[in-house]
This record gives sequence, structure tokens and C-alpha cells, in this order.
Amino acid sequence: MQGVGFRPFVYGLAHHHQMVGFVGNDNQGVFIEAEGSETNIAAFQHDLVTHTPPLALIENVISKSIPPCGDATFTIVESRSESSASALVSPDLCICDDCLEEVFDPNCRFFRYPFINCTNCGPRFTIIRDLPYDRPFTTMVDFPLCEACAVDYHDPLNRRFHAQPIACPHCGPRLEYIENGQHLFGEAALQLARQSLLAGKIIAVKGLGGFHIACDATNEDVVQSLRQRKGRSDKPFAVTVYDLEIGREFAVIDSNAAQHLANRTRPIMLLPKYADSRLAPSVAPKILNVGVMLPYTPLHYLLLHDLGIPLVMTSGNYSSEPIITDNAEALKRLAPLVDGFLLHNRDIHISCDDSVVQLMGDTEIPLRRSRGYAPFPVKLPVSTPHILAVGGELKNTFCVTRDSYAFISQHIGDMENLETLNTFESTTDHMQKLFGVQPEMVACDMHPTYLSTRWATQYAEHRNVPLVKVQHHHAHVAALMVEHGLDGQQPIIGISFDGTGYGTDGAIWGGEIMIADYVSYERPFHLAYMPLAGGDTSINKPYRIALAYLHAVGIEWDEDLPPVAFCPELERRVLRQQLEREINTVATSSMGRLFDAVSSLIGVRHIISYEAQAAMEFEALVTGDATFYYDYHIAENCVDLSMLLKQIVEDLYSGVSASEIARRFHQTIAYIALECALRIRQSHHVNTVGLTGGVFQNITLLGMTHSLLAQSGFNVLVHQKVPANDGGIALGQAMIAHYRTNL
Ligand code: ZN
Ligand code: ZN
Ligand code: FE
Repeated sequence: MQGVGFRPFVYGLAHHHQMVGFVGNDNQGVFIEAEGSETNIAAFQHDLVTHTPPLALIENVISKSIPPCGDATFTIVESRSESSASALVSPDLCICDDCLEEVFDPNCRFFRYPFINCTNCGPRFTIIRDLPYDRPFTTMVDFPLCEACAVDYHDPLNRRFHAQPIACPHCGPRLEYIENGQHLFGEAALQLARQSLLAGKIIAVKGLGGFHIACDATNEDVVQSLRQRKGRSDKPFAVTVYDLEIGREFAVIDSNAAQHLANRTRPIMLLPKYADSRLAPSVAPKILNVGVMLPYTPLHYLLLHDLGIPLVMTSGNYSSEPIITDNAEALKRLAPLVDGFLLHNRDIHISCDDSVVQLMGDTEIPLRRSRGYAPFPVKLPVSTPHILAVGGELKNTFCVTRDSYAFISQHIGDMENLETLNTFESTTDHMQKLFGVQPEMVACDMHPTYLSTRWATQYAEHRNVPLVKVQHHHAHVAALMVEHGLDGQQPIIGISFDGTGYGTDGAIWGGEIMIADYVSYERPFHLAYMPLAGGDTSINKPYRIALAYLHAVGIEWDEDLPPVAFCPELERRVLRQQLEREINTVATSSMGRLFDAVSSLIGVRHIISYEAQAAMEFEALVTGDATFYYDYHIAENCVDLSMLLKQIVEDLYSGVSASEIARRFHQTIAYIALECALRIRQSHHVNTVGLTGGVFQNITLLGMTHSLLAQSGFNVLVHQKVPANDGGIALGQAMIAHYRTNL
């Protein structure tokens, strides 16, 4: 990767071990010619791989002996790449410990400077306009280096050697705070912004990959007013804390979680929250977890230092639109949401949202792979041509492949409006330029009306390259296989429990137990088809899903059942007719919809205001270990749901608590997964099972299923590099497209 300080590291090491020779870059990586005594060479080689700078990743080292050529010194030589695009671009990185120390060191020239950075930290991906990765091609072009910065920049032994975004209070970007027509700059701007936050105001803060909207996370009134202004009734907000101590006031942060929180990727981590704490209840209502994040830029550190409160920091956007990056646009569009603007004049070339992860044991499970991770590549098991895989509809990411790497984009958003499509388009251009990719093939989902599919179709036609349409859940399974380095010689059992996805029979799939490789799949088991009245548009009304499911399995709509009581009588009558006559009704095997139906059935959530809300609130009820599970019936290739739903209704009538039912239900789904896997193992002699699909963001279900399968001797794969949700499917699409066209 470029800009991670590897050549200066080698330079320093060579001097340390009294070597002569040179180091440089080419499109294969780094080349070094080093001459010295045998012991020094050995020590140099050892340190080379053991003392690697934080951002560098050594894939392999090839070395050979050559006759000494008697160089006088050790130097850094010009790069040898023929194509400038061969350099890998690093993700944006959180401030490093050295820089953090300098920010708070009154004797340092960077004291309290919000844009301090070095080769080990700072913005990268979001400020690069073009390659090569040199300052003139970044948004730092408008800030000529001052003398002191130039000295640092040119000194191979300095931490800022060739750090392209390097800046100081004399030559770099500066802060500005605007409130009530008043403009303040620098330290004064920072101070007023802090005062406003403490006074219960809502402010926009320009960060690394876009704007955040920030406010006091302990002030219920202000959090509620933010919800009102943003039109976001329940969807949880993430919280930024200065340090773990403040985080531990409201979230359970064990040493394992602490380590992941402090990762240089600085993700938002979902952590169990305490029932009683000073955190405002509206931050993450009715769910188990709260998203917590440590500061990752010097600006965030300065903003939160000694502030004493956690801050809500949510993306500066309107729901489902991309995060805003531009000052003028923010001032115009975010004005109704905020009381003040903390801006700076370093432009953000490409947006990048915060990443979100959760933990299963000590395994980090990605939910949104964005800042800090993208565009770091995922290694492919084979070398591929240049492929553009456009991903899905919700939580869109796309990827481009080159050689044996897949460069996956940052989180783009839900592809349902023009703004998101625009971001998608500009980011695909950007990524292609950055990684020197000219797509020879395009891959997309099979769904005919996905915006991404339509875009891909036009794009492929326009470019006259082949288009490969990939079944949604096959793509989920393939993505999981790729990230575990499988070459596809052996198929795996892919359990794809998902919200939605276009099936080859026109139904909406999502409860699929497949056996798949990169070329094809079989579908030995799936959830029984249930009617979805109104198709995908009904998904924000779980009570209607519950009623439809009850109807399908022949359970009376008794007024005592929560979804029945919730649904107005007239609507019930219309719905009954619709279901009986199968008007505008689509069949679905979706596991996500089953969770929605049961969530409403037991009275947890009848209408949702954000995706997966019913399932998340349902999961939050599960406590303790489950020992009991429902009887279930798996017919030929179909998981029957009538027995399951009937037992839940019986439990309801006999007064079993919602929490107990939730626990039993989760456990039953895990057993169903196990049973299907066992049967496939028997028939196909395959012992590897992959768990994928958006439903497996449910960490309770993931944990239960994982342990049942592992206990039965399965080799269980879960997502660790890309999300189980649709943010991961582009990777699978690309691999399938490659294998299909390469038969
Ligand atoms: Zn640094
Ligand atoms: Zn300077
Ligand atoms: Fe999906």
C-alpha cells in the first residue's frame, strides 16, 4: 500500500543495521537491495517482518543473494511502477498515538491542531482525487507546505516523511464555527462549539468522510428534538465517547471489546447497554445494544476532551441519502437540523460513513464495512479479470477486482433515490481510477427492478461487456466462501437467512439452505412459502405479515392475538379477501419476514420505522440460555411453519412470557438450521457450513446456530471481513461472475 511509511521504515532499519543499498516501489510491491555483514543482513531481514509499520501488510518476502555492488549509502529510490494506478490506496486512519501525544503537548508545534497527521495516520481514501498518491492530487493541493512541514516531509527519518496530508497551524486547514450568523475560527471556533454542545445545542461537525450531527447523548430533550428534526423516530444513534471510562458508564465494555474499540479502524461497536444510566433513553430505544465509538480524528479528540459527556454522532444526512461532505451543501441542507456548524476547509473528495461491527466472543463481525476498512482489499482465492460487481439494493456496496484482489467500496447506502445513485456512480468511477480497473465484465443481482441491476445492465450494454446476473442468496454464500479463502473446488452448505432476495421461481427468497460453489447452487431446503400481501411494500407493517402467516397455516384471527387486535377491522376484512383471492400477493420463504411475523404475533412490534426494527426488538427480549425449543417439521425440501406458529400461539394463550417465547423461537431456528445441515451432510458428504444473510446480524441467533453446528462437528464459517447483510454480496457476485465465464 502506498502512503503507509514502508520505504522510510526500511530506510531507518537499514541505517540501524549499517546496511547500504536502496529501497523502492514497483507494481509488485517493495524492492530492496541491501548490502552488509551476514549478521546484519540476518537481523535486518528479521526486523523487516517483525517490526513492520502499523499500516503495512506483508504478504510474502522473496529474497535472493546477489554479488555486492559496493553502494556507499542506503537510499530511497524513485518508484518503478509503469502504471501509476498499481499503487494500493489505504483507508482513512485514526490518529496515531504519537500524533495524539503531540496534540496535547504545549511544546509541540502541532499543539491543539485539529488536522495533525503523519505517515501512520490521517485521511487517505477520502482526500485522493487522482493518482499517483501525491499531495497535488489530493484535496490538500490548496495548502502549500510551510518551511517546517517541508523539512519533515523530506526527511526520511521523520514520521512525516512523504505524508501527503501533512499540515500544521501555519500552513494547513483551519476550523470555523458558525452559529447565529457569527463566525469564529481556530481555537475560538472549537471552544464555542464545545460550549454549544454542553448547552444542549445540536451541531453539525465536519469529520473525515462526511458530516456528523452531534449533541449531548445524556440530554433526553435534545436527543428527542434531534429525532424530531431528522424525522427519525426510533432508529438508534451511535455515541462517541472520549475514552472507555465514559463509555463504561452506560455500556458493557469488557477488555475484549475495549481492544476492538481502540482498533485503528475505530468502528462503531454494538455493545450491551445498562438499563439505568445517564444515557438518554431515546438514543437507542427498546433494543439491547448501543453503538459506541472512540474518537478517531484529532478534531474529535479536541472536541470531546474534558467535555465529560458522551456525544450522539450520527451521519449528517436525511434518511437513506448519502452522508453530506460539502460545506456549502451542509450549510444549506443541514440548516433545519442544527443550531451550529463546525466546519473546516479541507475538502472531502469522496464520502465515507463510519463502520459498524459487533462481537461474537472475540470475533469481530462486520455490520457495515466502511471508514477504516474500505478500500482495503479482500484477497481472492484466484486471479480474476477486471470485474465490476454492483451489489444489491439496500446497504449497497460494490466491488472492483484486479489480479487476486477485490476492492470493496465504502457503504453507499440504500439505492432508492437519485442522491444515492449519484454517489454510487461517482464512487465507481473513483474506485476504477484509483485501482486501475477497466471492467471487462459486470455482475449484478437478478432482481429486475433493483436500481443497481438496471444501472449495471445499461453500463454493460454501453461498454459492450458481458453482464452476469447472480441469484441474491448464492451471492451471499459465495461472499462468505471468498473471505474464507475457499477455492470452490468443494461446495459448502450455505445457510442464507435473509430479509429478501429475488428467487429464480419469481418468489421472494430468504430462508435458503443451499449447497453451493462459485458456479452453481442447489436448494435442498427452504422455508415454506408464505403469502406476502402487497409484496415488498408490506414489510414495514409486521402485523400484516403476522396475519398473513396465521391465515396461511389456518390459525384463526382471534381478537386476543396482538396483531389481530392491532389491525383495524376494515383492514382485516380487506386483507382476508386479498389473501383468499391471492390478489397482489407474492410468495416468500424469507426468514426475515418470519421474524417480523413472530415479533408482531407476540406483541413486540407491529409497525417499523427502520429496517429490521421488529427483529431487533424481538432479539432484545432473549435472555439466559435456552433449553426448550419448539417441535418443527421439515418436509421433502421445505421447512414447515404451521407446527411452529401453532405452538407459539398456544404459548401465548397459556400465558408464556414474550421473552420466553422469543428465546424458544430463536433456539428452534438454530435447530432447524442444524437439522437441515445434518441431512445435507448425510446426502452430500459436505462438512463445511456457512452462515450468511442479514438475519445473521442477529448475534443471538448466530451464536446459537454456530454452537449447535460446531457441537455436531461441522466446520462453521461466519462473516468476518464483509457483512452478512447485503453490504457483502458484491464480493460474491464478482466471484460467481468470474467462475461462470471461466468454465
Ligand atoms: Zn500520526
Ligand atoms: Zn506547516
Ligand atoms: Fe440479502
